Amino acid sequence: MDEREAALRQAHGHAVRWLASLSDRPVPARASVDEIVRALGAELPDAPSTPADVVDLLATACEPGLTAFPSGRFYGFVIGGTEPAALATDWLVSAWDQNCVMRAVSPAYTAAEEVAGAWLLDLLGLPPDSAVGFTTGATMANFTCLAAGRDTVLRRAGWNVAHEGLVGGPPVRVVAGRDRHMAIDLALRYLGLGRPELVEADEQGRIDPEALRRALAAGGPGPTIVVLQAGDIHSGAFDPFAETVRAAREADAWVHVDGAFGLWAAASPAHAHLTDGCAGADSWATDAHKTLNVPYDCGLAVVRDPSALRSAMGERGDYLIQHEHGDPVDKVPELSRRGRAFTVWAALRSLGRHGVADLVDRLCRHAGAFAAGICEIEGATVLNDVVFTQVCAEFGDDERTDRVLARLLDEGTAWISGSTWHGRRVMRISVSNWSTTDEDVARTLDAIRRASDGT
Ligand SMILES: *Cc1c(COP(=O)(O)O)cnc(C)c1O
Repeated sequence: MDEREAALRQAHGHAVRWLASLSDRPVPARASVDEIVRALGAELPDAPSTPADVVDLLATACEPGLTAFPSGRFYGFVIGGTEPAALATDWLVSAWDQNCVMRAVSPAYTAAEEVAGAWLLDLLGLPPDSAVGFTTGATMANFTCLAAGRDTVLRRAGWNVAHEGLVGGPPVRVVAGRDRHMAIDLALRYLGLGRPELVEADEQGRIDPEALRRALAAGGPGPTIVVLQAGDIHSGAFDPFAETVRAAREADAWVHVDGAFGLWAAASPAHAHLTDGCAGADSWATDAHKTLNVPYDCGLAVVRDPSALRSAMGERGDYLIQHEHGDPVDKVPELSRRGRAFTVWAALRSLGRHGVADLVDRLCRHAGAFAAGICEIEGATVLNDVVFTQVCAEFGDDERTDRVLARLLDEGTAWISGSTWHGRRVMRISVSNWSTTDEDVARTLDAIRRASDGT
């Protein structure tokens, strides 16, 4: 066995032990950053080490500082776990080490990207001729889509931003709902567009279509982008797409949808109604590393007009080999990058159409079970309409809610984040892991009950 194979075996052993530990290990990490720094050793050694020893040292030193993100009882943020086929494929992606820039040089990658892209459009109910770019996550997918939107609305106004830049050009208005995700603000900042103009939303976070219509009318004609949302991170709510897309179209605006985790509702016949009208937009950003449960990192930028995406992201270096069908590189900000579409292909191939729908339905069913269980706890109230995978609850007052959260994390059965929603402290449960079982939900509800007893 050569050194490389020994290192791979070492990594395999540690990975399998880690995954086996998930069902019972405490979900929060047990060691601090400083403790792990000491265990890793802060000094860079002068001499080389054997690869297998390095892997062993890393895995052993890091183990107490790992949070069980892929556990079925991790409900913080919106995270997602790792589907087995996607995880195993991700190892292969590293071993293959393909550069995924050009069609002519990486035919296997390009093929996987084309097949996975077409499957995604089909599952998500999006126009079949749209372009799909594979980014690091939804922040960059939003960036990519909004770049295509910015360039298009400026081109319509007679301004070529790729040549002239933004300075001196017509202003671009970006209108978004009050409860948009902060990733939108980041993407707009990177694009030189500043902060969005905010429009009122209802108590679930859904943009108010009348307020949007008024805001668009008040601004008058000019390059405009409207940003909508599929899946509010607190309530899980979806914007009313049919009305808002119509209002945006009437104002000749580019319509973008941030559907980082929520766009996947479209893949479930039982939940697809939440996304009604969404396919009328110009671009959509979503994650594969959340609801689809592929390993980090993978986001998806979908743009209805492939030429809009290509003119925003394409680059024609003389040393590249250009292809008439376009290259994977024409759809994303990066040049060199990881073969993300392989893992997406594997997750979709492994689940099949019904498996993706079942996954979405299961996450929603667990969220419903959390809401029902929490309602039975003394003094606890579920604050949102649980339409998808998100549950926000409070325990009487802010102090008690924070105490319950702290006790729960301390106890370690599950990991749930707190947040502030409409000025109140909340326990925010996000169900996004494929492996969460009914038993995980029951164990977590028991832990929440214990944490709230006498608190
Ligand atoms: C998670 C999330 C994002 C950002 O996605 P990343 O993959 O973390 O970059 C954007 N919008 C919404 C609604 C999200 O839930």
